[in-house]
Amino acid sequence: MSAPDILQNLAKQLKPYRDRVETMERLPAEGKPHAEVLALLEQLRDLEAARWQQGYASGAVYHGGQEHTDFLSAAYRTQSQSNPLHPDLWPSAAKFEAEVVSMTASMLSGAEVRTHRRGDRVAGAVSTGGTESILLAMLAYRDWGRDELGIAQPEVIVPVTAHAAFEKAAHYFGIGLVRVPVGEDMRADVAAMRAAVTERTVALVGSAPSFPHGAIDPIEEIAAIAEERGIGCHVDACLGGFLLPFAERLGYPVPPFDFRLPGVTSISVDTHKYGYAAKGTSVILYRNQDLFHHQCYTAADWPGGLYVSSTLLGSRPGALIAAAWAALVATGEDGYLDSARRILAAADRLKAGVREIPDLKVLGDPLFVVAIASDTLDIYQVMEQMSRRGWSLNGLHRPVAFHLALTRRHAEDGVVDRFLTDLRAAADEVR
Ligand SMILES: *Cc1c(COP(=O)(O)O)cnc(C)c1O
Repeated sequence: MSAPDILQNLAKQLKPYRDRVETMERLPAEGKPHAEVLALLEQLRDLEAARWQQGYASGAVYHGGQEHTDFLSAAYRTQSQSNPLHPDLWPSAAKFEAEVVSMTASMLSGAEVRTHRRGDRVAGAVSTGGTESILLAMLAYRDWGRDELGIAQPEVIVPVTAHAAFEKAAHYFGIGLVRVPVGEDMRADVAAMRAAVTERTVALVGSAPSFPHGAIDPIEEIAAIAEERGIGCHVDACLGGFLLPFAERLGYPVPPFDFRLPGVTSISVDTHKYGYAAKGTSVILYRNQDLFHHQCYTAADWPGGLYVSSTLLGSRPGALIAAAWAALVATGEDGYLDSARRILAAADRLKAGVREIPDLKVLGDPLFVVAIASDTLDIYQVMEQMSRRGWSLNGLHRPVAFHLALTRRHAEDGVVDRFLTDLRAAADEVR
C-alpha cells in the first residue's frame, strides 16, 4: 500500500461514520427531538456492540453481560446529577465513595495495617480510572518525599513493564523515573531495583500483574526493600486487584501483593476493570491517613471560597461512583469468586491451546493476561491475520508480542475455541 492509501485506510477505520451518519460540526439551530438523538446513539451502539460482546476484544469490556450492563445503567440513572464536590447536596456521594474505598481495602487485607503499626488505617479515594489513581499516588510520594524526607528531586523506580501512567505521572509532576529490567519470566529484577535505590528515591513500584504480560512482580521482595529504606512501595493492582484475591481462594498460585505486606504503602485497583463497574472509576488506597493527605489539595484564600479536593478533578461524576458501589454490592464475594473461576478456567484452556500451536509461545507464566510471541514467525503478521478475523488484540514490543486479557466475554461458550482455531490458522498463513 502507498502512504496515501494507508492514511485513507486508517481514516476509514477511525472515522467509519463519516459517510454514514450526519456529522455535527456546529450546534443545531434547533434542538433535535430526544427520540431522534437516542435513536442515533442506539444505532451506533448496535453497530459496535457485537464485536466486544462476542469476545473479540482483549480486555476493554470486563463483564458485558446484558443484565449486568442494564443494572449499571439503571444505577447511573438514579444519581445522574450527583457531584461529590457538593457534599451538602449529595451526602450519599460521600457514603458511596467511602464504602467503595472500604470494601476494596478490606478485599486487599486492609485490616492488617493496624497490626503492623498502631493507629494506621487504610485511607483512599475513588478516582476516574487507573491512570488517575497512579497519578495521585505518584503526586503523594513526591510531596511526602519533599515534606518528610527532604528530597527535592524525587525519583521513583519502576520495572520497564510498569504501566505508561507512571511515565505520564513522572512527566506531569517532574519526578525522575528510573526503569529497571525484568527477567526471562517478565517479572521485575529485584536485584536491579535494589541497586537503583538512591538518596533521591521516594518510592518503588511493582505490578500485580503487569499490563503487557500479566506477570506478578515479586512484590514481597520489592516491599521489603522499601520498608528497609523507609520509602514508599506502590502496588499497581489496577488489573489484578479484583481477581487475584479470588484466584488465591480458588487455589491458584498468587504470591502476596497486598496490605498483608508491611512494606506496601499504596495500591491502585480498578473498579472499572474486573470490579465490573462502568468505565470511569478506580480506587487509590494508602496504608495511612498521613500519606493520603499528600494527595489532597486545599485552596484557602481563593475568592471562590474554601476549596477542598481529594483527587485531580473538581466536580466529579457522582453517578459513576454510585454505579461502582452498586456493582460491588450486587456482585459480592460470591459473584467475584464465580467470575474469577470462569475467567481463570478459560485462561487455562487458552494457554494450553497456544502452547500446542507450533512456533508460538506464551511469555512468562501468566494467570489471565496471555502474551504470545514467536522465535520463528513475525508475530505482528500473526496479529494482523487475527485482526482480519475480527480480533482486537494488544500489540506489544520489547519483546515483540501481542496479548489477550481474558474477561467474562472469553468465558462464554466457544470463544476460547474460536480464538485458538483462528490463531492456528493465522500462524499457518504467516508460516
Ligand atoms: C489498565 C491499567 C492501568 C491504567 O488504567 P486506566 O484505567 O486505563 O487509566 C494501570 N495499570 C495497569 C496494570 C493496567 O492494566
